[in-house]
Amino acid sequence: MTNTNEVRVRFAPSPTGMLHIGGARTAIDNWAFARANGGKFILRIEDTDPTRSTEENTQIILRAMRWLGLDWDEGPEVGGEYGPYTQMQRMDTYTAALETLKKRGAVYPCFCTKEELDAKRAAAEQSGEKYTGYDRSCRNLSAEEAQARIDAGEEHVWRLKVPENHGPIEFDDAVYGHMSFPADVMDDMILVRSDGSPTYNFAVVCDDTNMRITHVIRGDDHLSNTPRQILIYEALGFPVPTFAHLSMILGADGKKLSKRHGATSVEEYRDRGYLPDALVNFLALLGWSLDGETTIIPRDVLAREFSLDRITKKDAVFDETKLDWMNGQYIKDMGADAWVQAARPWLIEAGATEEDIDARPEWYAKLYPLVAERLVRMDEIPGKLAYMFWGPKVELDEKSVAKVLQKEGARAEEALRAARQIIADESIPWECDPLQDAVRALTETLDMKAKFLFQPIRVAVCGNMVSPPLFESIELLTREDVLARFDATLAAAF
Ligand code: GLU
Repeated sequence: MTNTNEVRVRFAPSPTGMLHIGGARTAIDNWAFARANGGKFILRIEDTDPTRSTEENTQIILRAMRWLGLDWDEGPEVGGEYGPYTQMQRMDTYTAALETLKKRGAVYPCFCTKEELDAKRAAAEQSGEKYTGYDRSCRNLSAEEAQARIDAGEEHVWRLKVPENHGPIEFDDAVYGHMSFPADVMDDMILVRSDGSPTYNFAVVCDDTNMRITHVIRGDDHLSNTPRQILIYEALGFPVPTFAHLSMILGADGKKLSKRHGATSVEEYRDRGYLPDALVNFLALLGWSLDGETTIIPRDVLAREFSLDRITKKDAVFDETKLDWMNGQYIKDMGADAWVQAARPWLIEAGATEEDIDARPEWYAKLYPLVAERLVRMDEIPGKLAYMFWGPKVELDEKSVAKVLQKEGARAEEALRAARQIIADESIPWECDPLQDAVRALTETLDMKAKFLFQPIRVAVCGNMVSPPLFESIELLTREDVLARFDATLAAAF
């Protein structure tokens, strides 16, 4: 059994699309709060909207959660004591809760048709009054009449009987502080639709209660649902959890983050080469801070130190430049082995094969220091490292050829031919330093500035003027391939 003091939180996505950045931030905060308090993190799929929910989206969300490293203690694929964790499989629990409410006289059937309700709304709007919700006409039907109409098979929904003279609905939000909403403007909201399905507010309250959720941490787009949900808790006689509403995430222009700002789903960030650790760190800092200044917060620190009282209600701004910087830091610190694993798809795009990576991971690990300080995103790997996979060929960048080789003409050719001799000299160990020293000595022999000597070599080996460290790269290639590239360049450029 659950220990009664245990913190239990949930992330409850609707599988109507991919996992968005805002949803991911909510998931991270819940996960970190559970971990920091030795509690449980529950994943629940809210699929009661049959027109928009798909199994495919559920799978995409689960995959994104796993990729982010947000392990859940209870939920789909994991199970748990309070499952199932998919709303469509919990219909009996909503039916049972409705029965409780009926017994308590807290709900009533409403037979008003959509046409009637639309007409009432239109009439209210035409008369210039603000439509304040359902006029409660069915609330006054006698129990006998209501039952007779149900028995006759008349279509109906079930509405919550918002108590008269309730007084304000109050709660202490862990982020927003004390909140108070007048109850007398609350609509007698629908809890169960005519097809028997629960509405969002009803299902959430039933689930959060049945799953023993202690803290509801979610986006502040749900803030206006909270007083409604509290009315449902009260009607059912269930304890109300603690709420913490997370502020909105804005784009750099101050507007709510949306497609207009570019990538918004976790998968898109993955495909653009952001590391899950960096993205989790970055998203955790949208609205929360450790101490107001620390920016690099590894996952284990987050899982230890996260607290609701350091969440701000100020809107958070999604600063992609900061994310890029942070991703670069994580790449720099991740180490060669982790890098090879994470870089796999992009190494393959650059020209590697799965088999080769598996066969000689140590060679791939040596690529890491060539780029560790230079990569902002992993998807830059093909652009930066493709030359390592060309074998004997070289893909010459036209601009580099024109500027470094042709403009310098005979001198560049002379440099290349001299360097080729050194590369071909088998008495020089095939290692970065001796090769570099031997080539550098040519600056004296040829009376040439280092730049004029090294740039042509760089173009011949890497295809362009801007590449990772030259002799460190050469060391990782074979002598035959490097010589073949020299020859190809000499033939093509002069
Ligand atoms: N399923 C809701 C959503 O995706 C979340 C509900 C909640 O957290 O209470 O917005």
